[in-house]
Amino acid sequence: MPTLQDCQQRDAADPLRPLRDLFSIPAGVIYLDGNSLGVMPKAAAARAAEVVTQEWGQGLIRSWNTAGWFNLPQRLGNRIAPLIGADQDEVVVTDSTSINLFKVLSAALSITAQDSPSRRVVVSERSNFPTDLYIAEGLCKERGFTLQLVEPQEIAGALTGDVAVLVLTHVNYRTGAMHDMPTVTAAAHAAGALMVWDLAHSAGAVPVTLKTSGTDFASFGSSKSADFAVGCGYKYLNGGPGAPAFVWVHPQHANRFWQPLSGWWGHASPFAFTADYQPAPGISRYLCGTQPIVSMSLLACGLEGFEAADKLGGMAALRAKSLALTDLFIQLVEERCQGYGLGLATPRDHAQRGSQVCLTREHSAEGSGAFAIVQALIARGVIGDFRAGDGGAHKDILRFGFTPLYIGFEDVWNAVEHLRQVLETAQWKMPEFNQKHAVT
Ligand SMILES: *Cc1c(COP(=O)(O)O)cnc(C)c1O
Repeated sequence: MPTLQDCQQRDAADPLRPLRDLFSIPAGVIYLDGNSLGVMPKAAAARAAEVVTQEWGQGLIRSWNTAGWFNLPQRLGNRIAPLIGADQDEVVVTDSTSINLFKVLSAALSITAQDSPSRRVVVSERSNFPTDLYIAEGLCKERGFTLQLVEPQEIAGALTGDVAVLVLTHVNYRTGAMHDMPTVTAAAHAAGALMVWDLAHSAGAVPVTLKTSGTDFASFGSSKSADFAVGCGYKYLNGGPGAPAFVWVHPQHANRFWQPLSGWWGHASPFAFTADYQPAPGISRYLCGTQPIVSMSLLACGLEGFEAADKLGGMAALRAKSLALTDLFIQLVEERCQGYGLGLATPRDHAQRGSQVCLTREHSAEGSGAFAIVQALIARGVIGDFRAGDGGAHKDILRFGFTPLYIGFEDVWNAVEHLRQVLETAQWKMPEFNQKHAVT
């Protein structure tokens, strides 16, 4: 069984360890929630001050040109592209994940309406992140499509000749289970459907290959290259609360359709102020209106972490460390927290695991205790989160994200030791840990 000393030695030998210094982590905190809101890059505070006092305060409206505000969505998109296996000029940073999903799903439905109008079904996973399902539900209603929700093992069987679009999240937010992206994409294409991926829990967490090289193209979509993708700026990319999201469209689709939010920032020449809309070529048409420049500027600081990691092996090295961290956490929980009714919701198979570990807890008359256990851990500085189950097949979840940029092996040891103490002393039963707040 690994010891605390083993964990400390692994940190000392870890070539990625210096990256932790790029981030501001409060003293006494072990932050296992970077999958929900990433930590603050140290550079962000000075950058925020510079954007506000210099670029806004002094530069004023000139900064759209002189500070590069106007093309910031494209410049940041080009920096995200290598993290998701896309090429330059195919990604823009803009709006939120929910809004970007609306745009790309709408474009996918328009393509289907033109190419194969008899296909009227959108398939997704019942346990997909709710906003993805709500956006899909709303669009399907408006456009006369049917939304069909299935369990992960039912996806292949659901891909019938009626399916227009398969929309999935690559890494499941509740369980940390990861889809095999090229295989699922190929299955969707073999069935004649378009593939939309949500990378909210993948970008910056696991290597992603949206485009496969080589065997392009059939009538649409090379078999394994996805068609559309969206993802989140404030999770593993450490862009800050509410940081803008990103959107990717395969170049073969980018010029085919207007996205429905055809605002002036997606116009070919916004400053011509013409009365009619002419979409910009390529991915820029996926912009809508004026961007939140202060917030967007801070996303650059988050991306610097990955650019620093590039010199140390990049996403492959980060992935290897992430798996080592999650393996260690699973092993220590199973050894040291035995007998307290904990289960594992995250797959053991590396190929099916994202960068988080989700534990379940057996229900008793007083509930699962999962919420209160997480609260007791937070009071000790171990910040994870709780995700409610549905009372049926989906159980209450204690969720722990492991961000290899700044989490170490000793952190894992200490987190498990706190968990053991919370369970052993039944500290979680104290009333103060059983009061729910607006945000869990
Ligand atoms: C976090 C997350 C989102 C967030 O969407 P917002 O529009 O930023 O609120 C969307 N989809 C998935 C799968 C997520 O995990």
